[in-house]
Order: sequence, then C-alpha cells, then structure tokens
Amino acid sequence: MSFKALGLSEPLLKAIRKKGYETPSPIQAKAIPSVLEGKDVLASAQTGTGKTAGFTLPLLHLLSENPKQKFRPIRALILTPTRELAAQVFANVKEYSEFLNLRSAVIFGGVNQKPQIATIRKGVDVLVATPGRLLDLQNQGALSLKRVEIFVLDEADRMLDMGFLRDIERVMKLMPDKRQNLLFSATFSKDIKKLAYSILNNPVQVETARQNTAVEVIDQKVYRVAKGKKTGLIIKLISEGNWKQVLVFTRTKHGANKLCKKMISAGITAAAIHGNKSQGARTKALAGFKNGSVRVLVATDIAARGIDIPLLPHVINFELPNISEDYVHRIGRTGRAGAEGQALSLVSADETSYLKGIEKLIGESIEVEIVEGFEPDPNASTEPIKPGQNRNQNKGRRTNSRNSNSKGSGNSRNSNRNKSRNRNRNTDSKRN
Ligand code: AMP
Repeated sequence: MSFKALGLSEPLLKAIRKKGYETPSPIQAKAIPSVLEGKDVLASAQTGTGKTAGFTLPLLHLLSENPKQKFRPIRALILTPTRELAAQVFANVKEYSEFLNLRSAVIFGGVNQKPQIATIRKGVDVLVATPGRLLDLQNQGALSLKRVEIFVLDEADRMLDMGFLRDIERVMKLMPDKRQNLLFSATFSKDIKKLAYSILNNPVQVETARQNTAVEVIDQKVYRVAKGKKTGLIIKLISEGNWKQVLVFTRTKHGANKLCKKMISAGITAAAIHGNKSQGARTKALAGFKNGSVRVLVATDIAARGIDIPLLPHVINFELPNISEDYVHRIGRTGRAGAEGQALSLVSADETSYLKGIEKLIGESIEVEIVEGFEPDPNASTEPIKPGQNRNQNKGRRTNSRNSNSKGSGNSRNSNRNKSRNRNRNTDSKRN
C-alpha cells in the first residue's frame, strides 16, 4: 500500500516524500480513505502510530479541493488537550501543507494572545487549538467557528481526563451542525463512547490492532526497590548505562523538580516539565532534550502527553501512575516510528497494586529485577499512597476515600480521578 494509492494529491505526496515516509502506517491506511470520502471517523490510536498524519493529510486534501473563500474563514479546527501537542500537530500541518495554498495557525494558553489574534485576523484555513485559549479568543470576538467544515478532536481521552468536557461542548455549539467530525482516542472508556456518540454521525470505526499494541515492541522491566533508594537507583542506571536520552515520569510536579535537582547534583544534565513551568521553560527543556544537551527530561503525565520525540530509547517510571492506562501512554514514548525502546519502572512496596492493575491491562506480567544495594524494603507497607498525599506536599489536600487498587471498584477509582481532576482544574488552570 502506498500513499498514492490512498488517493492523496500530488502536493501532499511531495510533502510526504520530503518527510521520508515510505508507506502509510496502519492507522493512516485505514483512516485516510474514509476521511477523504467525507465520513465521520472514530479512531482508536495511540501516539506513535502516525495518527496525526492520519487525520491531517486527508483534511488538507479536502480543504485544498474545495474553493477557497474570500476572507479565509477557519474551515478546519483541530482541538488538542495540551500546548505541546497543539504545537506538534501545528508543525505537522505546516510540513504537510508546504506545497498547498492553505494557511494554518496554532493557539494555546500561557503565551501572549496578541500575535495569535493578529495571525487569525489575516485569515487561516486550519486552526490548531487548546480549548481554553480557543474559547477565550472566541469570547473576545477574535475568531469565529461558524464556517468550520472539519472538526478533529485529538486525544479525546486525555481531554476528558483533563476536565475539558464542558469546554468541548461549548466549542461544539459554536460550529455549524453540518460538518465532518474525526475523533481520535487511545482508550475507549464509557465517557469517551458517550462523547463520541454526541459528536459523530454514523462514524466509520478505525482501529489499529489491539488497544495496547505499543506495549509489544517495548522491552519492559520492573525494578523492585525501597522507596528511599529510588533516586540512587535511577542515577546508577542512567550513569552506568551511559544513557543519553531518558524520559522520566514522576507522579507530581514537586517530585519532578526534586528528582531533577538530584540528577543535576549527580552530574546528569536534566530538566523538568510540568504544568507549573512557563511555556518558555517547557519549550526550552524540550528543545534541549531533543538536541541532546539535556540527557534527562523529568515529566508529569500531563506535561509529557503529546511530546513527539522520534526514536526515544529509554523511558523510566520513577513512580508508577495510579491510572493503568497512563502507563501505556507513558511507555508509548518509546519504540516510536518503528524503533524499539526500553521502559523501566522503579516500583516500591506501596505501588504493588498499581503494578497489578497495569499487568492486568496489558495482559502480561513484567519481568522483575532487583539490584544489589537497592533492594526493596521487606517491612514497607503495600498500601498505596493516595494521589495528592505525597508526604512532602499537598498537606491538607487529601481525599478521604481510599485510593483505588487494581481490585478496587471502578467507582472508587473514578471518584478519585474526578476529585483529582477538579482539584487540578482549580489549582492549575494553565496546564494546557
Ligand atoms: P504520531 O503518532 O502522529 O505522533 O506520529 C509518530 C511519529 O511517526 C512522528 O514522528 C511522525 O513523524 C512519524 N510518522 C508518521 N507517519 C509515518 C509514516 N507513514 N512512516 C514513518 N514515520 C511516520
């Protein structure tokens, strides 16, 4: 199967050749023809599968086929949950539309809105946006969505995790009823299905193999270790392995900062990205990580979402996520674009139930190793530490209900997620 056989126009094929893509990825082969036919699409795809090109290429094809309108209203809207993802999708849109007469722009919060407004005023065909800034500019009368023909909701599951449901509903009301809709999501919870039903009309469903395919090409390992020895172990692994590009996940922003400082003290160049960092600091950290001047990027789940770093060799979970699906998202950073990767997790006794939940989700048990001098504490409790109950922070912010363990009821897990979502939304509105 070639890109040409999918029916894409020559200017797009030229841009694809320039990118060096030879064959369409499975999600592209499945999604592109349906989008070109003008159908609504519900696609299950994780980052790393080539999903961005899966919706961007046919979208650009369709827009370029239809005659341009005089004042260049926004004809395609791509909504993403995070600033980083918005920036990356926009970069892709720019690349793929290089040989077309189409204009695009990106808007997200945390940066000056004036240049964004100025760009939109000149007229753009494709707008990539995060929900907060989009609604903000719309409220100010700086943009209109009344002429949108194609709407893409990217990483819909993360949108809901971040509490953007209301914003999405608001955005929907601003667009014409008659339009083409594409919804991409890595996971399909009940809430996502409900959202999909409310947005899509008779959608074509596109799936790439099983939901957790990304896991299969990744070499996974668990290091059982005492909680207090994790920092020493991670420094040892990175130093002795002489790893040059390592993405490390922590559960909290505070934890990310703390670990980053310890790495730097140990002589490892490191930077942290999370919702409390300014957009400038995040962009700088990411650029340093990509160009190799920063060896370790320490990130929280939300900040790391959507980061596009091809050929990322190592991902380390300094702490396991308390939501199993996040593990799949995290390790999906490795093995991108066909390259194999290694995903390591440092697991202390209190994370035992998270590990079980993850193994259940991915349908396999992960190989365990214990490093001499960094053994687990045999007396440590296996009770999970509640989200927000980091011993060093968030005092007084505890939730009362017991945190989910893998055997716990889905309701308790959801209620914790909702609490944490609401809390995050209140305390960290600049996250996207
Ligand atoms: P995505 O899942 O959209 O984040 O894409 C993951 C990575 O795969 C990006 O670095 C893309 O540039 C790359 N990519 C997308 N499509 C292809 C393709 N057909 N062949 C090779 N690489 C691709």
